[in-house]
Amino acid sequence: MEVLFGGSFDPVHLGHLVVAEAAGEALGAHVRFVPAREQPFKRAALVATAEQRAAMLELAVAGNPRLAVERIELTLPPPSYTVRTLRALAQREPGNRFTLLLGADAAQDLPAWHEAAALPGLADIVVFARPGTSVPRHSLIGRVIEVPALDISATAIREHVKRGRSIRYLVPDAVREYLAAHGLYH
Ligand code: ATP
Repeated sequence: MEVLFGGSFDPVHLGHLVVAEAAGEALGAHVRFVPAREQPFKRAALVATAEQRAAMLELAVAGNPRLAVERIELTLPPPSYTVRTLRALAQREPGNRFTLLLGADAAQDLPAWHEAAALPGLADIVVFARPGTSVPRHSLIGRVIEVPALDISATAIREHVKRGRSIRYLVPDAVREYLAAHGLYH
């Protein structure tokens, strides 16, 4: 089973990583971060390019055999609808069974996603709880798992960088060095 954890990851932070690690452990599976090329609900807020967001993810997962980066959405035409991503993966890897890992906030919006009704046929849907959000229950959701919660958001990271504040211990060191070297989020 292959777990897919999608998002904008602009940038990836320790909140994402702790969730991926715990979910991979709970589900006994590899977890692939799937950076969106262009996310239908967040298009205007992206600051780093898709290639930069993927590069930061590669740095973040380096050395952890449980975690990987899935770049398929970077090669598909925008916008990155999950249903299209899953169909493309099913075609590329017909033998694999996929699980979609969603935060409670994303799960809340799930019924409004493009072709939402087709999703459970393409992947099992697992939701994890995030601080400050309740876990929705609807028929599309297969399972709910508990994960350690860190109150970190990419928005807060970008704000910190903009104000010249430290992001040490909020993102992996290699990610912090990358965004400094590329002048991101100033
Ligand atoms: P932004 O602040 O730009 O909205 P974000 O930090 O929420 O970004 P996304 O790339 O939107 O990051 O996150 C992808 C997924 O990771 C979402 O489903 C979101 O619920 C989850 N997520 C983000 N931050 C955390 C966190 N601190 N703990 C648990 N899950 C998180």
